[in-house]
Amino acid sequence: SAKHEGRNGYRLFAPAMQAHFTRQLQLVAALRQALGSAQLQLVYQPQVALHSGAVVGAEALLRWRHPELGEVAPDEFIPAAEHSGLIVPLGAWVLRQAVRQARTWRDAGLPPLTMAVNLSAAQFRQPGLPELVSQVLREEGLAPDCLELELTEGVAMHDPHGAVHTMNSLHERGVRMAIDDFGTGFSSLSYLKQFKICKLKIDRSFVRDIGDNPEDQAIVAAIVSMARGLGLSTISEGVETEQQLAMLREQGCDEIQGYYYSRPLAADAFEAFVRARLAAVRLASDDGVSAN
Ligand code: C2E
Ligand code: MG
Ligand code: MG
Ligand code: MG
Repeated sequence: SAKHEGRNGYRLFAPAMQAHFTRQLQLVAALRQALGSAQLQLVYQPQVALHSGAVVGAEALLRWRHPELGEVAPDEFIPAAEHSGLIVPLGAWVLRQAVRQARTWRDAGLPPLTMAVNLSAAQFRQPGLPELVSQVLREEGLAPDCLELELTEGVAMHDPHGAVHTMNSLHERGVRMAIDDFGTGFSSLSYLKQFKICKLKIDRSFVRDIGDNPEDQAIVAAIVSMARGLGLSTISEGVETEQQLAMLREQGCDEIQGYYYSRPLAADAFEAFVRARLAAVRLASDDGVSAN
């Protein structure tokens, strides 16, 4: 009977839940100790402009290597950090580290790059976030428009009034904002025009099968066209193949991020990547062709 199955289902479910929470608690304890240690590092994934083939930005992504647990994926530890509140100090560290790196690259003579930093819901709701962001930019000596904060739709929609207020404050300070994983979060489109954002990041799930799925093509075309109408730029995440790239170019997407160009890289490797592409773009423009 259904009742019987329900009980069986529950019996199977409970130990899995138990294991999940035990693991989350273990991660929170370990993460607390990892704060401020070399276990935590940022890597940087290039964002490439489709029209020129040049690297125009970097997304900072957190990596955690624990001596016993090994490499723990952000999709696992970020939620644990979020629930425990650890995301607030952790996120502040990420922000400062990323801003400092952007300044270091500027000093090293790299072309202007936008540094994209992910902000979680708890961070975004933290009172004083705009002040913290301004303070970090001032102390590290980076222009506000070199920083782009990535927010998911959920972060913005959870409390749209509060979100508009925080975004206005960040916008007045000259910081850019993008909506991450766009298309997955049931945004109210009427709020989109109130949000002081400059970019939509088209979610990987629409990019994956774009080569041969007409529905995904239609969704991406609609997002690009809506973004244009609202004066926003678009970037696609998770681009892995030439075919996906060609399709996104056809749809008029502005920027590309994904394994097709590069995996997220350690700072040194990122710098080398930017310089190599710069040389390729110059060569190609001498020959009158695109460097993609
Ligand atoms: P996200 O912000 O949407 O970041 C993009 C994710 O896609 C990254 O996973 C990146 O490594 C991965 N990716 C990039 N290109 C490709 C590709 O071509 N194919 C595939 N399959 N994947 C690709 P990652 O680094 O594991 O991060 C996962 C999520 O964890 C991020 O999603 C973000 O939501 C969160 N996260 C990472 N670092 C931070 C951080 O410093 N703070 C906060 N709050 N969240 C972070
Ligand atoms: Mg992101
Ligand atoms: Mg994303
Ligand atoms: Mg994502």
